[in-house]
Amino acid sequence: MAFHGSARPAVCGNLFPAADLGHKYFCVNSSGSTAACSGLNGSQNPAGPSQPAETPRHPATVGGSTGGGAAVPQPHSSPASEVPCPAEMEPDRPIGYGAFGVVWSVTDPRDGRKVALKKMPNVFQNLVSCKRVFRELRMLCFFKHDNVLSALDILQPPQIDCFEEIYVITELMQSDLHKVIVSPQPLTTDHIKVFLYQILRGLKYLHSAGILHRDIKPGNLLVNSNCLLKICDFGLARVEEPDSSRHMTQEVVTQYYRAPEVLMGSRHYGSAIDIWSVGCIFAELLGRRILFQAQSPIQQLDLITDLLGTPPLTAMASACEGARAHILRGPHKPPSLSVLYMLSDGATHEAVHLLCRMLVFDPAKRISGSDALSHPYLDEGRLRYHTCMCKCCYSVPSGRVYTRDFEPAAERPFSHSYEESMLSVWQGKELIHRFITEHQQGKRVPLCINPQSAAFKSFIRSTAWHSSKVSRKEER
Ligand SMILES: [Zn+2]
Repeated sequence: MAFHGSARPAVCGNLFPAADLGHKYFCVNSSGSTAACSGLNGSQNPAGPSQPAETPRHPATVGGSTGGGAAVPQPHSSPASEVPCPAEMEPDRPIGYGAFGVVWSVTDPRDGRKVALKKMPNVFQNLVSCKRVFRELRMLCFFKHDNVLSALDILQPPQIDCFEEIYVITELMQSDLHKVIVSPQPLTTDHIKVFLYQILRGLKYLHSAGILHRDIKPGNLLVNSNCLLKICDFGLARVEEPDSSRHMTQEVVTQYYRAPEVLMGSRHYGSAIDIWSVGCIFAELLGRRILFQAQSPIQQLDLITDLLGTPPLTAMASACEGARAHILRGPHKPPSLSVLYMLSDGATHEAVHLLCRMLVFDPAKRISGSDALSHPYLDEGRLRYHTCMCKCCYSVPSGRVYTRDFEPAAERPFSHSYEESMLSVWQGKELIHRFITEHQQGKRVPLCINPQSAAFKSFIRSTAWHSSKVSRKEER
């Protein structure tokens, strides 16, 4: 990976024009004293939200000129200078729906910056959802990596009795890889290399922290017009389970990207399931069509064995009996990996070589994220990324100063020991409430929702229908 001193020009061309994301608000600046019982839960407060029990110390005014968030101005009781840019936040529009939760594009009234606001619904339905949401929240606050989406802020919660939903602010990205793949815009080999490099760079970080994403798919890979990529949606993520006798849920990963060991009912799996998904995405970037697009999990497995051939018995060691019998009952299939060369002109020998190291049936023999990063196919992606896209290297008049560690691991593993002390929903609520309050302390002027904003009501309506549609993928 020696490319210090290289004067090779990097093409960081725009992939797509910057989206018009509007300019609305519906959050307000607030102080540490909370706007209690803000009526975020529409069903609890059908006639409209109540006034905050305590008046926020910081002022908030009607924001923008669009009028979408017809918010009631709130009184001043502290110097206006404490608030850099008093304003309301109105929602722009929904920008995505994750495994759990809805994401909107909004403007941060403190600095006018476009950010994404995610509502995490149904937090306190039961202990499992409580733990899941807290895990995702803690992960978002833990991440410090340019290719992994992290929390910029968490909105101030109301008093604990009225605490029903959590709102997290993250960086706003312009699109995702699914939208890019299905669009008519050209995807060159350079694009594919820089995307794949960043996916693996982010995954190496996650896996080094002991985190399995478990839902890697193009829609969960956010991208900007400068080709910067961030892995998002940690609704299904969990900590790696070192004890192979402990059962893990199989209700993970969107079917097209699901690894064979999960399809075959393995009760224990590891980070290799994410690498399988990356292999599927790599092939999809090359061919611009889903690699294994099956109607059912069994057909999914059949499509995989059509390409890779019938796996040896050793590769099915952890499979459930029924799945193993299904494979053995069928005809013996030879591998047909040469069809990968027909994905596109970009499917060079180097590309197919790396692809075949990811699409390995046996998870124990599949390449790891860090080994994949050492593959020569990714050298140009690394060069491009660190020449003009990263934050870890910088330019001086004499040239570019590169970082010592191109693909950093996490500084420490993500700890989930706090989950053991979470024994009831109420206890979980207290823990999460304290976590958010402590997380915010002293960092920035806190934000909270202004429930009187008309725009906020439309936001709530859009999230309510989604919440009812969210499949219960609660895990153990
Ligand atoms: Zn760099």
